[in-house]
Amino acid sequence: MLTLDQSVRPDTAEWQHFYEKLQTSTTLASLVLTAWQIGLWFAKTLVEQQLNERVKRPDVWGDCSTCGSRLQSKGFVSRRMLTLIGWVEWKRRVGRCPNRCSGSYSTPFDSVLAITPYQQTSTELVRLGCLLAVFLPFELAVEVLVQLCGIRISDDSVWHWVQTFGQQAMQQVDTDLVDLANGVEPTCESLEPALAVLPLVIAADGVSVPFRPHPGITSGKIRFREVKLALIARLKQGQTRTGKTVTRLHQRRLVAVLGDINDLQPRLQLEALRQGITTAAQVAWISDGARGFWRLFDQCFAQLAVGILDFYHATQHLWQAADAYGKTIPQRSPQTWFEQLRHRLRHGSVLGIIKELRHLLKYSSTPASAKPTLKRVHQYLSTHRFHLQYRHFKKLGFPIGSGMVESACKWLITQRFKGTGMRWSEPGFNHLLHLRLAWVNGRFDSLFADFPLTPTLYSPNR
Ligand SMILES: [Zn+2]
Repeated sequence: MLTLDQSVRPDTAEWQHFYEKLQTSTTLASLVLTAWQIGLWFAKTLVEQQLNERVKRPDVWGDCSTCGSRLQSKGFVSRRMLTLIGWVEWKRRVGRCPNRCSGSYSTPFDSVLAITPYQQTSTELVRLGCLLAVFLPFELAVEVLVQLCGIRISDDSVWHWVQTFGQQAMQQVDTDLVDLANGVEPTCESLEPALAVLPLVIAADGVSVPFRPHPGITSGKIRFREVKLALIARLKQGQTRTGKTVTRLHQRRLVAVLGDINDLQPRLQLEALRQGITTAAQVAWISDGARGFWRLFDQCFAQLAVGILDFYHATQHLWQAADAYGKTIPQRSPQTWFEQLRHRLRHGSVLGIIKELRHLLKYSSTPASAKPTLKRVHQYLSTHRFHLQYRHFKKLGFPIGSGMVESACKWLITQRFKGTGMRWSEPGFNHLLHLRLAWVNGRFDSLFADFPLTPTLYSPNR
């Protein structure tokens, strides 16, 4: 058996070059970078040596799919692949049918290595490119990749990878949705016991994204389209250093779709089941006043969850009432009355507010012009009275604002999709959206391989 230094014999000229560079490096930074380069060179040599060694083992030849004859080796052919450590090259046997049937070309060693016939870039590098594109515009992702590992890839390549793997992520969701429609419930995500006892919160909102007016054409007036988004998380009360009580989100999962609430509904149900909605001790639903979201709540979650109407949104209705009523009572400004109403709402007297509005609607002193608004607000508060019990919600430890989902809209959608001059095609948007979702939901790596692909740092002296 050969030892490592016998099997990986450095090419003298190359080694000499690196060694001289190392000797002449003066600063720590240049020493580190040169040593890193040597490390990469050594890594590439190791990988190539392994591949060329393993290829000597006998291949398992299958049968021709046309005539059934056993395939035969036709000798060795080179294979080249761009990897995280640079270009790697090796030779492997190719085989084909002795009857020369078309399409019988076979490379068993490629299958062993889990590479596809036309693959030019290794999976760990593709994953890194996709990951950078999840956060950065394509041309910036390419630049950062150069900075990180010295490999320059065209932004077109990165774009294509995102389409391929984003498509896979979408298909995964579609498959899960078909299963759900057929009554197959998803498996619950494993949850630490300490998290499983915490309340579950679901919050939904919408955000618009700029699209191209026509597929394939970049010019023309931007068309904004709505993306519906929902957040599912476990709520944990904690304390800041100054002793203030804060609610933190754990096991945060996002659902988003380019479409309307009917498109969001099954996706949200799927994720809610995954996050254990049926076994959670308490469930809260938070959204603004958009009717569609409350219809979704009534249809899917009303049996399990406490519904909370975003407090800020509710106070906007109070302001409309106060503003319409105006200075009907000379010593009370709309602002003063609004502040009183808001205070009462916050402390749980929604029924008192509803009663007051009902009385005002009857009084002859109430201006006729204010009555339609007062009536509408009265109706609104009556409809949502169970969703406006803020004192009760606070006692249960639930948030009363939808800030968490509004901020999720910002960092999931606005930050990446609404940059200057950006306008999207439907597939381009959907593919990248699904990669971003896979990342934030902890399902990114499984799109690429069934083992973790994050490089681990070699630092034995840590
Ligand atoms: Zn054949």
